Order: sequence, then structure tokens, then C-alpha cells
Amino acid sequence: MQQQQKKIGLVWFRNNLRIRDNIALKKAADENDQVIAVYFFDPKYFAKDAFGFRKTEKYRAQFLIETVQDLKQNLAKLNITLLTYFDAPENKLNTICDEFSVATIYTQKEWTQEEIDTNKAVKQPLTNVNFLEDYDQFLYHPNTVSRNFSNIPNVFTGFRKKLEKYVDILDEVKISKLPESNSIENSTSIPTLSDLGFEDFTISHKTAFPFKGGETEGLNRIDYYLFESKKVSFYKKTRNGLVGVDYSTKFSPWLANGSVSAKTIYDKVKKYEKEYGKNQSTYWVIFELIWRDFFKYISLKYNNKIFKIGGILDRNYHWNTDKELINQWINGETKDDFVNANMIEIKETGWMSNRGRQNVASYFAKELLQDWRIGAAYFESLLLDYDVHSNYGNWMYVAGVGNDPRDRKFNTQLQAERYDSNYKFRNLWLAKTLF
Ligand code: FAD
Repeated sequence: MQQQQKKIGLVWFRNNLRIRDNIALKKAADENDQVIAVYFFDPKYFAKDAFGFRKTEKYRAQFLIETVQDLKQNLAKLNITLLTYFDAPENKLNTICDEFSVATIYTQKEWTQEEIDTNKAVKQPLTNVNFLEDYDQFLYHPNTVSRNFSNIPNVFTGFRKKLEKYVDILDEVKISKLPESNSIENSTSIPTLSDLGFEDFTISHKTAFPFKGGETEGLNRIDYYLFESKKVSFYKKTRNGLVGVDYSTKFSPWLANGSVSAKTIYDKVKKYEKEYGKNQSTYWVIFELIWRDFFKYISLKYNNKIFKIGGILDRNYHWNTDKELINQWINGETKDDFVNANMIEIKETGWMSNRGRQNVASYFAKELLQDWRIGAAYFESLLLDYDVHSNYGNWMYVAGVGNDPRDRKFNTQLQAERYDSNYKFRNLWLAKTLF
């Protein structure tokens, strides 16, 4: 009698670098006899962009390496082997599928241009392999929100109120351990910082984000911010802060590469509220996560318009590209000390507060009148928490080509007086010391 062929599923990890609440992993485990996993450090994401910035700078590169190291260990505990390559997926996936007789590739659904291009190149040589994609980066899953993204409201409040009233947040999915026989031999290794073209570095001790990458560290941070310190009960009062580790949640870098899911945070906040009480602050964390969803829906609605100079409004403003002014902004050498302090912070750490981001972006677009896409590209390069939808959505918003119905300009000096009246933040980054 002929033996039935084993069904093998391959999980292609992208910005869903976690084992908890991971749809691709769950489906692969449910639908196959064997599961293997792969992650690509795609050289495209470490190359220079159109404006001359490396698409990923050293801070996020280091965070990503730590994230994948942690993922590999966590997958091993489930008896799933993670293969890792410093190569483009389109160069390798086909061979991997052949070698292991993969029946189905499971991955997170992405929709921005670079990811679509990669998908096309990946799928082209694949014959007899199913390709299964699922949205898994949302708090409110698209299947429960809209069949037609062109109906998504352009103003946040309308969007949020409807979601809160009519849509349920889906439960986290649970993944169980596979038998030991599921693991395979693995001769691949995770690239080092130097493989990716960076020199080793130590992060400034002044950083407001002194954390490592990876799901384990991300979940620890959530538990710290909620249950251990109970800072979440004061979040609304502290969230506009500039100095220190705890003025806001700092969840964004883990959310951005998917090492924790928005649903996990939601569930933990709900649990916290049950145990310790609900207030405006605990709600406000969820409120901000809805902003995150909002920019993802705006990007689903407008596709490549989020990268265009006129933004989603097709605004025909006049923008400049003055190299000197742009470099002054990047290096924290403008006429504005509050802008400068924030720009030095991001340059030295890969982190900047939300208050800082709003101010420096407004200054770049509305005071210096420089092409907002250059500012956005610089953020893309430097930010630890770079997320295509949040970054371009927020930049469009501040530059007046996006979702701000009021199209405001920040008065950076008034903002500095309000949020840094004692100069603590500016002194931290501007004070010249020898050591
Ligand atoms: P918290 O204040 O603790 O908020 C909790 C979570 O809510 C955040 O982790 C984040 O996921 C979400 N959130 C909060 N504010 C926003 C917002 N305005 N837009 C979308 N989501 C939000 N955020 C990114 O994650 N990646 C980016 O690339 C990014 N680029 C930005 C560019 C500009 C010009 C501006 C003004 C904002 C940008 N933001 C971006 C949004 C925001 O500044 C960060 O999410 C926030 O500062 C992260 O810190 P936190 O995790 O402590 O946030």
C-alpha cells in the first residue's frame, strides 16, 4: 500500500514575529502534519532609499536581530525550527518549498507597494504551492470592519466611534506545542549587525527606550507597565512626556514588527481593568491603538497615495528640497532648540516621543517648508518603531495632506514652554559635556 504523503506547511514570518496570537502559525499548525518556519533579512530593507538614507538604520537592525533570536528560541519550545537567511525571499522560498515538499506557505498579509512587489516575485516560480495570507496586524480585523475600504471614514473620530459601537475585537488565537519529531536540522544562522553592514554600537545611557527586541521582552514590558507598576492608570496624564522610560507605554517597536499583537495588549488591558479598575487612562491606551488601526485602514483605502507628495488629499502645495536646511534639521542645528533636542534624541537612540515627533515634523513641513516625504524617509530610516502606515499617515496628517481636518501648524516654542518648561528635556540632549 502506498504511504500517504505528509502535509508540510511553511510559515513565512514578516512583521508578525511572535508565537502568541499568530494566525499564520495557528493555521499552519492546524492544517499540516509538519510545520517549518522561515525569516528573511531582506537586503532591500538595508539598502539606500531614493533620498540617500539607509531604509533601516542600526537601531532597528539591532532590535530586529534580537527579535528574531527570541522568535527562534520561542519557536524551538514549540518544536518548530526557524530557518533564517540574509537574502531576498524571492531568491530562496522556491528552493525551500522544493526541498521540503511544502504544500502551503502561510504569511501575514501586507499591501504596501514594496511588499506587493516581493509577493509577486515570490509567487512567480511557485507551482503547486498554496499561498495563504491573513491580515494579522490589526486590533479590529478587516473582515469585521469593511468589505470595501473606500467606505472608511477620513476623520478619525467618526471611524473610532463606529468601530467601538458596532465591531467586536476577535479573541487571540492559541497555539499549542507540536511533537518533538516536528523539528528539523538547521544549518542557517541569524546575521550579525556587521553582516548587515553596521558597526557595533552602544546606545546612549540617556535613551528613553533602553529595551531589547523580541516577544519575551515585549510581553515583559506590557506586564511591567500594567500589572507591576500600574503606570497604565496614569497614562493619559503622562503620555505627552519627553524624558524617561515610563511617560508612555513604549509598546510601539514591538507592535511595529509584530512581536506583540494589538489584541494581546487589548486583552491585558481588559484584564487589568477587571482587577484594578477602569479609568480614562486605561481606556486611552486602547484609544491610541485605534489610531494605529486607523492609519492602516487609511493605507488600505488609498494605497500608494500615502507615499505621494500631494498625499491622500492630492494637495498641490509647493515643497522645497534645500539640502542645507534638511541637514540642519537632521543634525539638530536649526534655530529652534526644542526641535534640535528632539532631533538629537532620534539620531542618538532611534527613539522620539509622540510630542517630539509632532513638533519636528510640523517644523520640517510647515516652517522649513521641505518636502515632507524626506522627513518621513528619515524617520523610516531611524525609528525603532517604524511602521509604514503610522509613519506615512502621521506625516501626511502633520504636513496638511492627510487626515487632519484642521491642518494645524505647531508653535514649537509654545509647545516647549508647555511640555518642557524646566528645560529638563532640552538640557538632556543639548548640554555639551565632555564625557
Ligand atoms: P503610546 O502613547 O503609549 O501609545 C500606545 C500605542 O498606540 C503606541 O505604541 C502606538 O502603537 C499607538 N499610537 C499612539 N499614537 C499613535 C499615532 N499618532 N499614530 C498611530 N499609532 C499611535 N508610530 C509608530 O508606531 N511607527 C511610526 O513609524 C510612527 N511614526 C510617526 C511619525 C510622526 C510624524 C508622528 C507625529 C507620529 C508617529 N508615530 C509612529 C505615532 C506615535 O508617535 C508613536 O506610536 C508613539 O510615540 C509610540 O510611543 P508609545 O508606544 O509609548 O505610544
